[in-house]
Amino acid sequence: MRYQPVIGLEIHCELLTDSKVFCSCRNEFGGGENTRVCPRCSGMPGTLPILNQNAVRLAAKAGFATDCTVNAYSSFDRKNYFYPDLPKAYQITQFEHPICTDGHITVCGDKKIRINRIHIEEDAGKLVHDDYEGISMADYNRCGVPLIEIVTEPDFRSAEEVQDFVEQIALRLKYAGVCDARMEQGSLRVDVNISIMPYGSDIFGTRAEIKNLNSLKAIGRAIEYEIQRQAEILDNGGTVVQETRRFNDNHGDTKALRSKEEAHDYRYFPEPDIPPVLLSDDDLEDIRKSMPELPHVRMARYTGEYGLPHDDAQLIISSKAFSDFYDEAVKLNPDYKQISNIMLVEVNRHLNDSGKTIEEVLFSPSDIAELARMISDGKVSNNAGKDVLKIMFEHGGKPMAIAEQNGLIMSSDTSGLEAAIDEVIAANADSVESYKNGNDKIFGFLMGQVMRTIGKGGNPALAKDILQKKIGKE
Ligand SMILES: [Zn+2]
Repeated sequence: MRYQPVIGLEIHCELLTDSKVFCSCRNEFGGGENTRVCPRCSGMPGTLPILNQNAVRLAAKAGFATDCTVNAYSSFDRKNYFYPDLPKAYQITQFEHPICTDGHITVCGDKKIRINRIHIEEDAGKLVHDDYEGISMADYNRCGVPLIEIVTEPDFRSAEEVQDFVEQIALRLKYAGVCDARMEQGSLRVDVNISIMPYGSDIFGTRAEIKNLNSLKAIGRAIEYEIQRQAEILDNGGTVVQETRRFNDNHGDTKALRSKEEAHDYRYFPEPDIPPVLLSDDDLEDIRKSMPELPHVRMARYTGEYGLPHDDAQLIISSKAFSDFYDEAVKLNPDYKQISNIMLVEVNRHLNDSGKTIEEVLFSPSDIAELARMISDGKVSNNAGKDVLKIMFEHGGKPMAIAEQNGLIMSSDTSGLEAAIDEVIAANADSVESYKNGNDKIFGFLMGQVMRTIGKGGNPALAKDILQKKIGKE
């Protein structure tokens, strides 16, 4: 491929407010068609918008989550266009003075992607096409749902960078409680602006915009397809047209929707019905203080201070609740690796098998901290620890009590062990002989026989020592 792709993103995220952005209709996904509408969000003449203060707060949080400047002054504008899913015939958005500007996120290790702006706007409704009847119907439930639009600079040079960015944005917004980022439900939608230029050039080509991509996979496929399509046009001496295109998931291709509008097509003007948004230093400080620790900061702590492998840390942070649980447990017992292992292997296995989430388990972080301590102190073996956790998962209860009730505490009494080991040696004289003659592998078999004899309460480390002494090669 002779061409370098140049990509910028516009990401629409629905905000997790209780009500819509300019009226008190419920902001919730689903519901029967046109059941969550009122005169305001369906654009009746004479109604006035009232700005949802929580939408402002969540937009500011999105700014803090992406290293933007959150502006003390921002204001709303009217974007005029007629489309049947927008009954007012204009969208209220922030054009001249967006709430957040100049942020960035680092992707793929060390590539900095600049964020130009984040602004607040209202969502439009949905058209439902009935191809059989040949009609289209409008569902206005989504009209007036609060959105932020995150606009990046054209800093991406590959689909991988785009996917990493979208994954990170989605996770940060989830952590901050700004957006649930369910791409499959459309609460986070990605528009990709893409052009290509010959390698070594610094003059961008004409871009196409691919609208409303709703999975990381679709983003990757759409970008790859567009690079090919534009390259073929240029290779054949043609010119790429600036236009908006739709990605078809079934065919894996993009089709032209309309020629891309320029800002002047929308005849923006200041929204006269909403006063400017003013955030004082105290407001901004208050919002900043309410921010949780963000996933990339946690990632650095886990891989740095805690010494966890990158993939393990990534798995833990992929759910805030899971990561919160881990953090609580290691606060009580800073055995980072041991607790990470218990949670990522055993706890996750039970969660997957049962379909439960970490919020629904019957034990607390302190129980996991305690179980990890019991294992590292040699009170229970690794295997017995798994049994204890299984019981904790099914019935709840404290790990120490469970271990005691089920005879899982490792014995440090050596006389019983010695007797058991003598028994195994007597019963497996051939194997012992073979070991003494240099067959080291057979030691594992003998240990297995010993463990079977002493049962789950047996202390494997101690048993191994004694067995080694008894049959050690002189
Ligand atoms: Zn309404």
